[in-house]
Amino acid sequence: MATFGTLSDRLTETFRNLRTKGKLSPADVDGTVREIRRALLDADVALPVVKDFTAKVRERALGDEVSRALNPAQQVVQIVNEELVAILGGEQRRLQFAKNPPTVIMLAGLQGSGKTTFAGKLARLLEKDGHTPLLIAADLQRPNAVNQLQVVAERAGAAVYAPEPGNGVGDPVKVAKEGVEYAKRHQHDTVIIDTAGRLGVDAELMKQASDIRRVTSPDEVLFVIDAMIGQDAVNTAKAFQEGVDFTGVVLSKLDGDARGGAALSVASVTGRPIIYASTGEGLEDLEPFHPDRMASRILD
Ligand code: GDP
Repeated sequence: MATFGTLSDRLTETFRNLRTKGKLSPADVDGTVREIRRALLDADVALPVVKDFTAKVRERALGDEVSRALNPAQQVVQIVNEELVAILGGEQRRLQFAKNPPTVIMLAGLQGSGKTTFAGKLARLLEKDGHTPLLIAADLQRPNAVNQLQVVAERAGAAVYAPEPGNGVGDPVKVAKEGVEYAKRHQHDTVIIDTAGRLGVDAELMKQASDIRRVTSPDEVLFVIDAMIGQDAVNTAKAFQEGVDFTGVVLSKLDGDARGGAALSVASVTGRPIIYASTGEGLEDLEPFHPDRMASRILD
């Protein structure tokens, strides 16, 4: 994707001969919109999202705000930026805490998306802010998942509620419910429930996640999605929105070379805010999500 240069470069190129003209004709705007479309597809934004986005930019670019602008080219770049930020949620959104603790935060997402890693990072962050998080190991699908959560929790210095070893596979819905009750009894003010994922969307696991949601009444359901997922972002996000009606998104693996197209796709098709950006395998690699920074990443 880098071979085509950045969106800003392309627009500058497209605008080079427009600058002298002052006013943009529909043909000028169409040329520009084509560049934007290509750049967004290169950044792996899903096609339907690209179509919606460019239609909106085109309409505004043909409008008065551009024809009246001293520098129409700059005005179009500004519009692209504004529209990106708007889709990405505008203002930064913070985690919602319950009025009556514990605040219950459930995680959902495909296997390998980064849920367990994020659980540890979030526990660490909450502890730094003076909270007393409990991690609940409700991913009983993968043999090693409970152990992995325990390792992450230990590194984060957080407590874990897990089924007793040797008690068979166990019922994740029951474990989640009992875990929340345990948190209440032991004065944990925040609870993070790790749930099972599969490599693809799976009806049985989605029902399990939905049952966990029902019995634990979470304050937040965070959908963790790998930023590298590309064009699959839309279908995966839609399936999880239908299945567990998540309240926010965590974008993981943003330290890779993904340009952030998944962020735009997910935010656009679900209307749910992205709350955190996960940027590495270490416990400290977590940042609040900034829509304006992501817009620049997509533009650059
Ligand atoms: P889960 O199956 O959803 O619980 O996913 P895991 O938390 O086990 O993560 C799967 C793999 O991705 C592991 O090897 C993690 O170390 C890695 N991982 C998770 N988050 C990040 C991240 O933000 N950046 C990078 N580079 N790797 C990550």
